[in-house]
Amino acid sequence: MTPQRHTKILATLGPASNTKEVIKGLLEAGVNIFRLNFSHGTHADHSAVVKIIRGLEKDMNRSVGIVADMQGPKLRIGDFENDKIALEIGQTFRFDLDAAPGNETRVCLPHPEILKSLEEGSAIFLDDGKVRARITKKGDDFVEAKIESGAALSNKKGLNLPGAVIPIPALTEKDKVDLVAALDMGVDWIAQSFVQTADDVAEAKALINDRALLMVKLEKPSAIENLEEIIHLADGAMLARGDLGVEIAPEKVPATQKRVVRYVREQGKPIVVATQMLESMITNARPTRAEASDVATAVYDGADAVMLSAETAAGDYPVRAVEIMDRICRYTEEDETYTEMMAISHPDTMDGDPSDAITAAAYYVSQDVDAAFIVTYTLSGSTALRMARQRPEVPILCLTPDVNVARRLSVSYGVISVFDPETGDDDFIGPARHAAKIAIEKDIGDKGQTFVMTAGVPFGEKGSTNLLRIAEVG
Ligand code: PEP
Repeated sequence: MTPQRHTKILATLGPASNTKEVIKGLLEAGVNIFRLNFSHGTHADHSAVVKIIRGLEKDMNRSVGIVADMQGPKLRIGDFENDKIALEIGQTFRFDLDAAPGNETRVCLPHPEILKSLEEGSAIFLDDGKVRARITKKGDDFVEAKIESGAALSNKKGLNLPGAVIPIPALTEKDKVDLVAALDMGVDWIAQSFVQTADDVAEAKALINDRALLMVKLEKPSAIENLEEIIHLADGAMLARGDLGVEIAPEKVPATQKRVVRYVREQGKPIVVATQMLESMITNARPTRAEASDVATAVYDGADAVMLSAETAAGDYPVRAVEIMDRICRYTEEDETYTEMMAISHPDTMDGDPSDAITAAAYYVSQDVDAAFIVTYTLSGSTALRMARQRPEVPILCLTPDVNVARRLSVSYGVISVFDPETGDDDFIGPARHAAKIAIEKDIGDKGQTFVMTAGVPFGEKGSTNLLRIAEVG
């Protein structure tokens, strides 16, 4: 038996990878869940990719998740007369509402509400922070800013206002249309960009209406400040270090990562660490040592999943990037330090919650009896999530009669989710024997091995986890 990797791999699809051949290669290399980036491509493009993934999922007899990532209110400047301009440190530059192409002294910022909310003295970052300016003058429909660093700007570069709560909702009109299209395609998760408050999350949850789960992208300082309220409403989170890293100082990113991973995990919700993990592999066949360390750090932190962005969407080595990420995760998970770190960081059980108490007990029993794997029968996915929260050393075989639940759990730590229609049958008998058979099929269990099983009985009814059983693979 090959040891299972606990930390999941989320790979972004794009022009370098959205064919059947490459997607199959990515799955074979270890991808558990894919991201479709709705900042690019048409609905027809995404729909075609969803069909390919669903076809491969069937052929390969495994559950594969799909995340549809909404663009969100990414602020951008307008165009320039000659497409780009040179800037000088110390010069004054104006942002206004005039749609005419910009020049060396001004450019359009087509967001009146943003212009209105800006204050003298606050910072404006452009092009992922490569250009930095500070506001020196504010008018009704313009601001002037002094360029503090950076040498050039070109058409439609992105704009960040570090620290500011921007007065626009996290879902744009485009996002609302994309969201409905993505749900109609049958995606499993919606990722919401630039979330700032719990109200943003509530709006998305209402639109999704339980047709998928909601993964909030934590990429604004205000989202980190409002973490508890946001995570309370969300189903999972992505630490989107690209935009976050522009808005907060680099030295704050590692501590923020540790705090966020720990908190989201304690809440029993999946947390994905994303962006620039193997960035140099966009053009190189090997990652830098620092990148390998970055992936390993996310694993040591106990993240549910690590993500590849341009490495798989637009890079020269999409499959190789996944193979290397898989190797880094596996090697790290075999390290004694990792085992110790997981063992000392078990979240407290949630007070007075019997399901949580049973799950925690099952985890400790699995250690005492040296179980080879843990089985969770689940209708809604909650029993599996509770077990994933414990970060057991052995795989969690999750059996569910709901194909959507199986797919959604593909992002969760240590969970091998299997769509198992028999679980819901009225005459379903012998759950332990049935689970043992599937464990052998999935190459996680062998005859004679002990395993621990949790479930909510009677089967087929959504409810609490109330059963704990020790069994043997017969
Ligand atoms: C990020 O900013 O880190 C991120 C994941 O978002 P996107 O790829 O949509 O910019």
